[in-house]
Amino acid sequence: KLHNTILELKGNIRVFCRVRPLLPGENNADEGKTISYPASLELLGRGIDLIQNAQKHSFIFDKVFVPNTSQEGVFIEISQLVQSALDGYKVCIFAYGQTGSGKTYTMMGKPGNVEEKGLIPRCLEQIFETRQSLRSQGWKYELQVSMLEIYNETIRDLLSTNKEAVRTDNGVSPQKHAIKHDAHGNTHVAELTILDVKSSREVSFLLDHAARNRSVGKTQMNEQSSRSHFVFTLRISGVNESTEQQVQGVLNLIDLAGSERLSKSGSTGDRLKETQAINKSLSSLGDVIFALGKKEDHVPFRNSKLTYLLQPCLGGDSKTLMFVNIAPESSSTGESLCSLRFAARVN
Ligand code: ADP
Ligand code: MG
Repeated sequence: KLHNTILELKGNIRVFCRVRPLLPGENNADEGKTISYPASLELLGRGIDLIQNAQKHSFIFDKVFVPNTSQEGVFIEISQLVQSALDGYKVCIFAYGQTGSGKTYTMMGKPGNVEEKGLIPRCLEQIFETRQSLRSQGWKYELQVSMLEIYNETIRDLLSTNKEAVRTDNGVSPQKHAIKHDAHGNTHVAELTILDVKSSREVSFLLDHAARNRSVGKTQMNEQSSRSHFVFTLRISGVNESTEQQVQGVLNLIDLAGSERLSKSGSTGDRLKETQAINKSLSSLGDVIFALGKKEDHVPFRNSKLTYLLQPCLGGDSKTLMFVNIAPESSSTGESLCSLRFAARVN
């Protein structure tokens, strides 16, 4: 490992809260009445207050991004984690929050809008640029990507070109993607497509391909509501040709399924099953990060596919960042409170 990052001194789990702006058409009559930010210098950029039924709930995170924070402004705060992955660390960055709170905006950005591109494309640009500039020091990096989603506790390979293997909605039985971890902390997912990539443009083509393979469901809240976890993984292997030093880093960027509670989505039947699978994996993720933060002996990685898949990238000296995304309108206050409590528990 080449550099000591500041993060190392501060522990390995970070929580950033991001509040999105009101969207056109959303009621701003009560703006500032449900969410506010403590004015004290000490809590500047770290505190958030949520008011529900005249009761104030205060939270402190490693960072709080107010609604007008640009995508670049958010990226600046995580670029050091990207450097860590190049230095040989295993890194996970999650986006958590109810449907419509800005998870996909944070991770992917707005399609076709350069200013508003999200963390995934920005991370890739940084990595490819750094790779180029480290060449003069003898470093050669090889990069590989995989993209999968976890839907109803089943893994789907989003880079598969075999449609039958990806789609399960029409009764086609899914490919079994068994997860194995080896003694070196590497994860192997059976039959998962892993591709060498040479440019960030190449990765954007793959991201488009993956997006077309994703499952979306219709809930009352959002037609494009994501009912699955999206896991983007970049494997980084670097070797220095003059010193023979080697590094193996992993960068995982995870757009989690919507955290909204059952009743609000009006779920029944298949949707109910989905919601239960989502609840189970999100609460398992919370339990795992909580146990890691508390340095508990037993960490319940095996309680969900998501935590088992990411096990080698969550424990040890790996680095984890959780975004908790918040929607600002007053109708979301209940969900926002749940999300903030979830985040506060793992922080
Ligand atoms: P989620 O993935 O959590 O369901 P989205 O990322 O799709 O939510 O965001 C919902 C809507 O809000 C989208 O239209 C998105 O473009 C918009 N949005 C989210 N966050 C922001 C932001 N920080 N600035 C501007 N628009 C945003
Ligand atoms: Mg989304």
